[in-house]
Amino acid sequence: MVVKSNWAYPIPQVSLPTFIFDSPTANLPKTPAYISASEPEKYSLSLHDYRLYAQRLASGLRRSGFQPGDRVMLFSGNTLFFPSVMMGVVMAEGIFTGANPTYIARELAYQLQDSGARYLICAEGSLETGIAAAKEIGMSADRIFIFDDGIATFEGRKNEKRTDLGTVRHWSDLLDTPEKGAAYAWPELRTTEELDRVIALNYSSGTTGVAKGVMITHSNYVANGSQQVHISSLADNYAEKLLTKKYLCFLPMYHAMAQTIFCVSAAKQRIPVYMMPKFDFLKMLQNVQKYRITDLVLVPPVVVAMAKHPATKKFDLSSVDHVGSGAAPLGREISEEFERLWPKGQVNVKQGWGMTELTCAATTFHPSKHSASFSVGELLANCEAKIVLDDEGKVEAPQGERGEIWVRGPNVMKGYWNKPEATRETLTADRWLKTGDVAYVDEERHFFIVDRKKELIKVKGLQVAPAELEAILLDHPEVQDAAVIGITVDGDEQPRAYIMPQSQEKATQETAASIKAWLAERVSRHKRLEGGVHFINAIPKNPSGKILRKELREKAALEDTKA
Ligand code: AMP
Repeated sequence: MVVKSNWAYPIPQVSLPTFIFDSPTANLPKTPAYISASEPEKYSLSLHDYRLYAQRLASGLRRSGFQPGDRVMLFSGNTLFFPSVMMGVVMAEGIFTGANPTYIARELAYQLQDSGARYLICAEGSLETGIAAAKEIGMSADRIFIFDDGIATFEGRKNEKRTDLGTVRHWSDLLDTPEKGAAYAWPELRTTEELDRVIALNYSSGTTGVAKGVMITHSNYVANGSQQVHISSLADNYAEKLLTKKYLCFLPMYHAMAQTIFCVSAAKQRIPVYMMPKFDFLKMLQNVQKYRITDLVLVPPVVVAMAKHPATKKFDLSSVDHVGSGAAPLGREISEEFERLWPKGQVNVKQGWGMTELTCAATTFHPSKHSASFSVGELLANCEAKIVLDDEGKVEAPQGERGEIWVRGPNVMKGYWNKPEATRETLTADRWLKTGDVAYVDEERHFFIVDRKKELIKVKGLQVAPAELEAILLDHPEVQDAAVIGITVDGDEQPRAYIMPQSQEKATQETAASIKAWLAERVSRHKRLEGGVHFINAIPKNPSGKILRKELREKAALEDTKA
């Protein structure tokens, strides 16, 4: 059964910058749009500034010889200038790619190389990692730029740094003057072909293998931005609420979720965003209280932390009236515990579900309906989905039955960057996206995500690709074979490795601890084997060598029940 969205919504046929800013010269609000949560009086950017910095960057990039289709990587936590860098690259007809700011050099080098980035704009505090990654792929210092937390840029400072790769300049060297920037007009695009140009590579492992560049186009962002604005507009008293809405952003902007919500949808709706460089539990609560935040965009571990941590009750969170959660599964019981932080009926957690390959979201719970289950809501406008029982998608599950969910719509990615085979495996010829998630749909067309067929593990909402960890583990001298799965702990997931040792005598707790520590040195924090290292006689595989992860997941469940 193919389920169609309840809504057909007109999606503007314009470029992403035009969608957000109307035109290069339109009058835009000069009130704060992105505000530093730590120093709000000193540091903020208006929507007008967002566009102007982006125009200055676009103009400067083009002056530096940057060509349409060239890639720029931003390796940084959230700053007020993050949206401007992304949009500046887009205005210059380039392709933006954001890297996880917690990456170590090896991980960064992979994305730098895979995306073929011409420039690396790197947070000042991560310069050492940036330089090491650049060295690994033979990138020269003149292609690296320092991105500070915005303060030096506000103050007009241009701090250069001497590194062993040579002198690295400040990113403001890429900015043209405000006058030249204001005069920069990004090309207006109209045809389907033009709007189908790739403007971002957001990295995701998808259903199998290692991280791949998900090609997102102008029309993908404009579609998903419109779909999100449309569903938000169904809230009771939307127009009135819009005047007082305030967001707090602490989710990383390199990821599809925060990027689409805070760089696109919030700006489109003119909703101010208080920015935190990264997540910090107590600071988040302080900021909600201090700025009277109305809308919280959360991931399940934050919902759990807020529900469970005694500190939450010490803060005045009475301004909150809308809470969305996505990026990983969230149970209803924990949502109810969370909702009890407010007087009955004030807050009802609405889940959304999506994927980097869907630009950001494909379903959301209707803002004015009460969510009383773990449903991820209804399909966004102009989307359709089907629940299938076979790999070819020929056998569709009847309503209420579980199967893999496939989605089709204007927010489905163009494909994977330079990976035609992976693209063919994930996107059918008639553009159904095979999501790798297991779901069912009820009679009210509400979707429920109940399992994951794909390899992906989500830790604190962040992706962990088992294939990446397995490849590293195979380099360990005591490891003959390895498989990594996710286990669920306190509402979050943790990677666990099953190891076939080189010799049975080595299957000891000491070896397990040393493998865990060894891997920890080679990956960013969220990929560490916090779910443990277990020994096994042989990794279960099918005749073609594919790891039977389901068997390992069942084994893990059994082991954990006994423990
Ligand atoms: P990403 O591409 O990093 O956004 O990860 C997408 C994956 O996260 C999905 O395919 C799901 O497996 C998982 N996910 C996202 N939202 C939800 C949700 N609300 N419930 C369950 N899983 C989710």
